Amino acid sequence: MLSKILNTDLKEQMVVWRHHLHRHPELSFEERLTSDYIASVLISKDIKIHRGLAGTGIVATIRGEKSGPVIGLRADMDALPITELNTFDYKSVHEGKMHACGHDGHSAMLLGAAVFLKENNNFSGTVHFIFQPAEEGGGGGRVMIEEGLFELFPCQAVYGMHNWPGLKKGCFAIHDNEVMAAVDTLDINVKGRGGHAAMPDQCIDPIVSSSQIINALHSIVSRNIKPTDSAVLSITAINAGSAYNVIPNDVKIKGTLRYFDNNVGEMVKSKMHSIVENIGSTMGVSASLTVTPSYPATINTKKHAEKCAEAASMVAGKHNVIRDMPPSMGSEDFSFILNASEGAYIWIGNGAVPKSQPKGGCMLHNAQYDFNDDVMTLGVSYWAQLVFNILK
Ligand SMILES: [Zn+2]
Ligand SMILES: [Zn+2]
Repeated sequence: MLSKILNTDLKEQMVVWRHHLHRHPELSFEERLTSDYIASVLISKDIKIHRGLAGTGIVATIRGEKSGPVIGLRADMDALPITELNTFDYKSVHEGKMHACGHDGHSAMLLGAAVFLKENNNFSGTVHFIFQPAEEGGGGGRVMIEEGLFELFPCQAVYGMHNWPGLKKGCFAIHDNEVMAAVDTLDINVKGRGGHAAMPDQCIDPIVSSSQIINALHSIVSRNIKPTDSAVLSITAINAGSAYNVIPNDVKIKGTLRYFDNNVGEMVKSKMHSIVENIGSTMGVSASLTVTPSYPATINTKKHAEKCAEAASMVAGKHNVIRDMPPSMGSEDFSFILNASEGAYIWIGNGAVPKSQPKGGCMLHNAQYDFNDDVMTLGVSYWAQLVFNILK
């Protein structure tokens, strides 16, 4: 498959598409130019498309020569609110916005797969190419499902792929079970009574109470979670006061909680509520915790992970398919798709993380990150191989 694709001019086309998307990044649910561009490429290749799910979502459909099962392949389209520090000629022209997670590369590879399979449709079945908005926190996958994705385009299974810096170029990592964590956002409000900093006895100090709460929260994962389970609780913002001599009225704290197993998540949340309320009451402040669920955990099924590993081995060589890489505590809205459909989500190596590597040299969401164009041929070969293997 790889050599077949290398013999086409697809790589050059994909680089052109990728650089265009990189130059014109758009944030979650605002991917109008991105969606128009992707649609125009698909239409120019005479590929049937449906537009409008979750606003900017596109579903392109290619039928094989013979009928058979229906599968979905998914890419995300949105960028991040980051000011790009790269200086190459295709750097972002949209101030404060950047493709720092490689969704430009994911979209270009899925376009490449659609174009290749349109011309090579000697398979039995149908492929829906799902271009989704708002992976970066907006839950665009969830909105597409709510707006009827799988009623309009029923799929027996859906597959996703994300680039992974730090994983060598030419490699894939495929998990049989947990891939990415569930994430909840945390807001804690601690309300006391402000006053003169020289007269703390006249005040109810929300800052000292907040320190006690934060310290105690950090004992949950280390003291209450089984060492063999995974959870991470990070406090990421503390906002209070502005003067040297004033004790403020209140403190606002933000944080994030991540876990794979819902029972673990529920246990941490229940302990958090108890700590916030009880320390608050002991210290005389009014303290409350609000937990907002964001993305569920992304969990593969072994059956589909094995299909992905087989296709990846056929295009990259078995020794380049890593089957025991630890999962990430990052999160991914492909989780909503895997909750609604069977399927699996894999990582394609973007290259080493050290900056000495010119391309793919930074972690995701870094202002100097770039998707590695050199992995696109492998990525599109994997997509095509997966289709030919499943829709035999
Ligand atoms: Zn991201
Ligand atoms: Zn991403």
